[in-house]
Amino acid sequence: MSMIEAAEARLWATVNTRAGGRPLDDACDAALYNFIRAGIARLEHADQLEDGDRIALAEQNLIRFVDAMLEGSHKEPVPETAFWQTRGHLCPLWPFCGTHDNGGGGEETPWG
Ligand SMILES: [Zn+2]
Repeated sequence: MSMIEAAEARLWATVNTRAGGRPLDDACDAALYNFIRAGIARLEHADQLEDGDRIALAEQNLIRFVDAMLEGSHKEPVPETAFWQTRGHLCPLWPFCGTHDNGGGGEETPWG
C-alpha cells in the first residue's frame, strides 16, 4: 500500500467511524471523496504524508467536518447539499479546502 493509499484508508476509516452507519448518498460520498483526495494531495505536495502530527491534525479537522455535516442534516441518506453547506461554513479547513470557486471570484489560499 502506498503512502497515499494508507492515508486515504485511514481518513476513510475515520469518516466511517464518525458516521456510525449513517449512509451518505452517492453524490455526497463522491464530494467527500474528492475533498479527502484534495487534502491528501496537499499533504503529499508539502511532503507531510509521513508526518504523524500533520496527519493527526488533518484527521481532527476531518472529524470536525464530518460531525458538522452529519449534525447539519437529518435526512437519510445524507444529501450532497449537507456537504456543500458544511464546506461553506468551515472553509478554509486545512488540508482539505484552501480555495474553491465560491462564485465570488475565489478565495485566497492560506497555505499555498
Ligand atoms: Zn474552500
